[in-house]
Amino acid sequence: MPPHPDPEYRGRFAPSPTGLLHAGSLTTAVGSYLEARVRGGQWLVRMEDLDPPREVQGAADAILRTLEAFGFEWDGEVVYQSRRHGLYRAALDALRQAGLAYPCTCTRREIAAKARRGVDGWVYPGFCRSGPRNDRPQPAWRLRVPEDPVGFDDRLQGHHAQALSTDVGDFVLQRADGFWAYQLAVVVDDGEQGITDVVRGADLLVSTPRQRWLQTCLGLPHPGYCHLPVMVNAAGEKLSKQTLAPAIRPEAAARELVGALTRLGHPPPQGCGTLEEVWQWARSNWCLERVPAGPVMV
Ligand code: GLU
Ligand code: ZN
Repeated sequence: MPPHPDPEYRGRFAPSPTGLLHAGSLTTAVGSYLEARVRGGQWLVRMEDLDPPREVQGAADAILRTLEAFGFEWDGEVVYQSRRHGLYRAALDALRQAGLAYPCTCTRREIAAKARRGVDGWVYPGFCRSGPRNDRPQPAWRLRVPEDPVGFDDRLQGHHAQALSTDVGDFVLQRADGFWAYQLAVVVDDGEQGITDVVRGADLLVSTPRQRWLQTCLGLPHPGYCHLPVMVNAAGEKLSKQTLAPAIRPEAAARELVGALTRLGHPPPQGCGTLEEVWQWARSNWCLERVPAGPVMV
């Protein structure tokens, strides 16, 4: 039995179908799944398919089949962001009406010529804060950020704060090409799906203060956050499609699962041979506090 069964707990796994699952994304799925199950809560799957140019045909289905082959069981229907434009539009409209979002007509080049580097790319210098600088027909939409730092306590990474105005700047909610920004979609969906606890990779720690601020602006509750260690390869690079991380093999699911648990600080004992045995051991031994905070080499 979990120490504190919490039927209100709602976690999620939110892969982007830009390729197949690799050791890094599998590890994130395992951590968020075990935490939800051990807490006696729900675990939802959301497909973050809002950037067709970066997506790989068939990847969304392949990710779901792989999750099934590993024995993950999600609650409810899989949610596809590509079918939820109306929700993002409504959130942007609300932010515009509140005077929190404004149109920006700057080009990347205009920004790069004047801006400094922040924690995640250029810090937008606020050129269009008091009105668009030119009359380009299709603006991007940005969110005004506060002067005061935005901080929170991460269950694994400890206290994390950013001064959004100097570390990030007013950030994009909708791009000039019409695509929704990840930051807006993820906050709207976590809110709409009633997510209470976000467990995901530490590469997204840098995004969390922006998401907390957006939650404040939209009047949404703040979920708890837990950022699992980043998986790096022997060269110290984060595992990703860009660094050519190999796809995990569903036919070796038990072994892949043992690998993921080991990286999460939970090496199963020798006797766990089958997938079922590994899951059973994991469910009765999972303790989030035992997961290492720092980067883990795969
Ligand atoms: N779709 C994002 C990714 O695959 C994860 C989003 C999230 O967990 O907030 O990196
Ligand atoms: Zn601008």
